[in-house]
Amino acid sequence: MNQDILNKIRNFSKERDWDQFHSGENLAKALIIEAAELLELYQWKQETEKVQELKEELADVFLYAIMIADCYGFEIDKIIMEKLKKNEEKYPVKKAYGNSKKYNEY
Ligand SMILES: [Mg+2]
Repeated sequence: MNQDILNKIRNFSKERDWDQFHSGENLAKALIIEAAELLELYQWKQETEKVQELKEELADVFLYAIMIADCYGFEIDKIIMEKLKKNEEKYPVKKAYGNSKKYNEY
């Protein structure tokens, strides 16, 4: 994770005295609310033409995901790499190639 971005996120909250509201539960709720705002851009259609709004909602989702990781002291790069490794094991290319089934349905 880029340290400058992480510091900027931390400072934004600190300057406003908002850390008091940022429990794991509150941040998880905020993440899902922002994900729903992103999904709303696709309501009743397969694609969205609202590219700027898509960028902003996606950024909101990233921000809350980063804040949750920071709240628990997780190293973002490390947990992503660990999860990718697990996914590679669950979804070996030989079985998963061109296949949308869940790993337990192979
Ligand atoms: Mg939003």
